[in-house]
Amino acid sequence: MESRRLSATRPPPETTPANRLLAALPAADRQRISSHLRGVVLEFHDILHQKGEPIGHVYFPGGGVCSLVTPLADGRTVEMAMVGCEGLVGASAALNGDIAQETSMVQVASDGSRMTIGAFRAEMNRRGPFYDLVTRYGQATLAFIMQSVACNALHPVEQRLSRWLLMAHDRLNTDQFPLTQELLSTMLGSTRPTVTIVAGTLRRAGLIEYRHGRMTVLNRAGLEACSCECYRSVDDAFRTLVPELVEAAAPYGRANGAKEAGSAGIPGPHPSM
Ligand SMILES: [Zn+2]
Repeated sequence: MESRRLSATRPPPETTPANRLLAALPAADRQRISSHLRGVVLEFHDILHQKGEPIGHVYFPGGGVCSLVTPLADGRTVEMAMVGCEGLVGASAALNGDIAQETSMVQVASDGSRMTIGAFRAEMNRRGPFYDLVTRYGQATLAFIMQSVACNALHPVEQRLSRWLLMAHDRLNTDQFPLTQELLSTMLGSTRPTVTIVAGTLRRAGLIEYRHGRMTVLNRAGLEACSCECYRSVDDAFRTLVPELVEAAAPYGRANGAKEAGSAGIPGPHPSM
């Protein structure tokens, strides 16, 4: 089921795509694939894929944050992976499954593009650069999901919240972004009161500011220190499997020094993932 508010409005621009996966393709492949793409506005709370429903399109966000979540029968959900401009939503379709096994939703809005599942499969069947990149990205996403299983089962909420904020920070080209406590509790599989308490701990430590539904990352290095190992583990998986999707902006500070940024007190503008 696709959201009614989700609207394919215009062809994507001819310039280099904001989506890093599309931008990483050789020019000839990118040009061919662009003929299958339609621009789309990904709005907050849009459902891109619903678990148990047919997959109609795959989506290439130009920014923002989309979440892959596992919904439970009692209405609760927990996030298993996150997608921004570095990837695509619907990579599981590469496995020839017609039915979504996860629910995909927009958490932070952006523009993007999408292609039909038929066009996606046709491109994959060429076994060219697109196939190579999408399958490596799918493997990285699988690593992301497996790490999330361990994280959600074994790591405390404070560490998981820090990890989530770092992952969102990597994908957004800003230190401040909209975020509700309801969303956070949904993503973390925790209650709102628990999230409120933990967010308060991070705020008092000077790592974040949070007011009126807007989150501000004040001390990224501090958040890295508070996060569990899972943030770095997934980061390593992406750097190994799809380096072209993360190295362009050298986002996390391993290359450009998160600790240095943190020690300066106020991190500089943060490039997207
Ligand atoms: Zn963890």
